[in-house]
Amino acid sequence: MTRPQQPPHVRIAIVGSGFGGLGMAIRLKQEGIEDFLVFERAGSLGGVWRDNTYPGCACDVPSHLYSFSFAPNPDWSRAYSPQPEIQAYLRACADRFGLAPHLRFGHALVEAAWDERAQRWRLQTSAGRYTADMLITAVGGLSEPAVPDLPGLASFQGKVMHSARWDADYALAGKRVAVIGTGASAIQVVPSIQPQVQRLLLFQRTPAWVLPRKDYALGPLARWLFRWVPGARSLLRGALYVVREASVFGFLNPWFLRLAQRQALRHLRRSVADPALREKLTPRYVMGCKRILRSDDYFPALARENVEVLTSGIREVREHAIVTQDGHVHPVDAIILGTGFRVTDMPIVHHIRGRGGRTLAQAWAGSMKAHLGTTVNGFPNLFMLLGPNTGLGHTSVILMMESQMEHVLGALRYVEGRGLAAVEPWAEAQARYVQQLDARMAGTVWATGGCVSWYQDATGRNSTLWPGSTLSFRRRVAYFEPSDYVAIPRRPEAG
Ligand code: NAP
Repeated sequence: MTRPQQPPHVRIAIVGSGFGGLGMAIRLKQEGIEDFLVFERAGSLGGVWRDNTYPGCACDVPSHLYSFSFAPNPDWSRAYSPQPEIQAYLRACADRFGLAPHLRFGHALVEAAWDERAQRWRLQTSAGRYTADMLITAVGGLSEPAVPDLPGLASFQGKVMHSARWDADYALAGKRVAVIGTGASAIQVVPSIQPQVQRLLLFQRTPAWVLPRKDYALGPLARWLFRWVPGARSLLRGALYVVREASVFGFLNPWFLRLAQRQALRHLRRSVADPALREKLTPRYVMGCKRILRSDDYFPALARENVEVLTSGIREVREHAIVTQDGHVHPVDAIILGTGFRVTDMPIVHHIRGRGGRTLAQAWAGSMKAHLGTTVNGFPNLFMLLGPNTGLGHTSVILMMESQMEHVLGALRYVEGRGLAAVEPWAEAQARYVQQLDARMAGTVWATGGCVSWYQDATGRNSTLWPGSTLSFRRRVAYFEPSDYVAIPRRPEAG
């Protein structure tokens, strides 16, 4: 009789090949660690920067800050680079650091279960089974599109597409197009398609606070300076870091945001002459409570003749129209869903099983909680990049991920240095951390601003944002503190 074949074993399994997964892979290689694989469900890398190809897609954090500190790029073409350039940057990083042999495309994680006896993770992917000592998820919070439960949507006979699942083959020119949503994605789509469509109906549930973006091109001279003049690029990154970082005080003490609110209202006044339209576009909640948006062309596009902003709410979708709560029937050929993502109920949490077979979803019971936003009691050797409460309202999340990567490396050194099987946070350490975090959140604009946003979960708790500066997160997280962790010894009979 032949023994059943063991699945391939790898020291570290990373899930996701966006900024988090690739950054982690680069840092592992820089530390001389080669025994790892990056599992990616799609056929290419890039995460959200692969998936979001809608017209006008660009980052609203300056590129010299929204990039790895350990992989600078002197060649950004604009202050806020467009999506294709960001995806090309990630591909270039993968090439530059020799990641190709580690990437496994078409490998969706179906289930990950901690095997207590073997002291390793058992991974079922769509392309086969593996085992791993350590599991690092880098799936981001903005990877699963949220499709609204609109009555009749399935019966619509025209084109429906979510902003993150854009169909470039569908021609919008000359069509009557509905855009649902006024978040960061929709406000980039609207001005990009407005000139070509026959009619654009924007279904707005909540108006957004919009600041000027002030984008500018970085010409050949600037790029030459960033490439050849020592310190020039770092100086710019440092300046961007300081300016963005300082803005966190507004979120922590909303009084400071009043100045920015005034700037946003001035921006609205200058862009939209019609007082009735301005009234519709004026937010009624404190700025910062939802993500602050940045755009120079969104308001001007809404003021064009072929655009109408509808605020009555959607009652139902019919075969060729959307009916609003006021009874009006709006004939449309296409519906674009700028309706965001399943951030606090990501499907993957039902498929990661820790000790005793408990899933992350069961451990969290509707509200994500993790020690330092990275590790979870009951889930040995599981590390999450951009886990609970690591999102930001003011600057680049890559700064957060980089702190977490250092934490993972610290854990790895600790586990290997002591010959351990695994680490997991003490329940008390995790509970203390979450309690401190919730207390800190209480005085911020996210708790007091009077809005509902994707930052909150089904229990009403803000389980997505970090209520502080990236510096304070780094101080807390980049160092691996062994006393926060249960050291699980290796069993002689395990693996
Ligand atoms: P979002 O911020 O969650 O916005 C979703 C929009 O859809 C909101 O205006 C929401 O209205 C509306 N909506 C949702 N369900 C609806 C329904 N049933 N009926 C009517 N309206 C509905 O999503 P997003 O714009 O895709 O942005 C998500 C996040 O992605 C951003 O916050 C940002 O972090 C990131 N992003 C970043 C960039 C960038 O430049 N870096 C670009 C795009 C996205 P309510 O406000 O009333 O809920």
